[in-house]
Amino acid sequence: MVFEQFGKPAEVRDVPDPEPVEHGVIVRVEATGLCRSDWHGWMGHDPDITLPHVPGHELAGVVEAVGSRVTGWRPGDRVTVPFVCACGTCPACAAGDQQVCERQTQPGFHHWGSFAEYVALDHADVNLVAIPDDMEYSTAAALGCRFATAFRAVVQQGRVAAGEWVAVHGCGGVGLSAVMIAAAAGARVIAVDVSPEALSLARMFGAMWCLDAGRVRDTAAAVRELTHGGAHLSLDALGSPVTCAASVNGLRRRGRHVQVGLLPSPDGTTPVPLARAIALELELLGSHGMAAHAYPGMLRQVRSGVLCPDLLVTSTITLDAAPAALAAMGTAPGAGVTVIEPWS
Ligand SMILES: [Zn+2]
Ligand SMILES: [Zn+2]
Repeated sequence: MVFEQFGKPAEVRDVPDPEPVEHGVIVRVEATGLCRSDWHGWMGHDPDITLPHVPGHELAGVVEAVGSRVTGWRPGDRVTVPFVCACGTCPACAAGDQQVCERQTQPGFHHWGSFAEYVALDHADVNLVAIPDDMEYSTAAALGCRFATAFRAVVQQGRVAAGEWVAVHGCGGVGLSAVMIAAAAGARVIAVDVSPEALSLARMFGAMWCLDAGRVRDTAAAVRELTHGGAHLSLDALGSPVTCAASVNGLRRRGRHVQVGLLPSPDGTTPVPLARAIALELELLGSHGMAAHAYPGMLRQVRSGVLCPDLLVTSTITLDAAPAALAAMGTAPGAGVTVIEPWS
């Protein structure tokens, strides 16, 4: 699926098959998630994209070919990757922080992505993650961006603890993942969204309270009231000035806000209620994917049944249906995760 211009309809057509670089692999894509980040890229909000372009960054599949210097993987391996593919050698990577690698390559942004039958991935020995045998490709595709991002945001950056109040603003794929992960950690979760459908999924995934932001005028005040003073941890999982401010304003003293949803703006800045952050000694944190080496802890919880990312996959479509579905992400991001299966 290629687009030649930003914001103009993408089309499905034949392009040359990719070849692996010496440290990279080619993966036959079995499933790839459709994400609001793809929509931002298509709209021209991402400076890393050059035209023409193939989007797609949440993928799972089978290794088809390996470069000459790859030692850990071979054709036939079932794999997924974090959406941030790291270089493995910069200072951030050396510190174990591959999610903020200085020379990162994101499939579907820095180079052609996985809305295709084949995708090239760089630095395979650093980035590939083996998919457990009993995990479906569609489930694994949902891990790479949204579920892993939510896991790092809630568990690592957010430092969730049992019994805490956690507010999740925006219940698309990443928000619903965050609801599930926080609830599994023993937190009391408040889900906030404008979509009744998203909120009913949030309730199913463990939210104790669901706030319909279309009816509740001041969601921050509602969160403070429900929690007798504010959430301990709050996430903006949508990425808008309104949800960001609501998340910060719904925190209690010394609370933690984690910004997960992207906040593109013309000058690169977003208004944040910093006066409240000072007065209440709030922590304002960002979260950006999750390194490949952190996956095993998450996958253990999936295999043991504590976390069920398969429940997040609410629809499966063909590549031919993807251009329209991508365009619709702008107005109707939808509840749950849509997965594209290029070979279906
Ligand atoms: Zn994504
Ligand atoms: Zn690096």
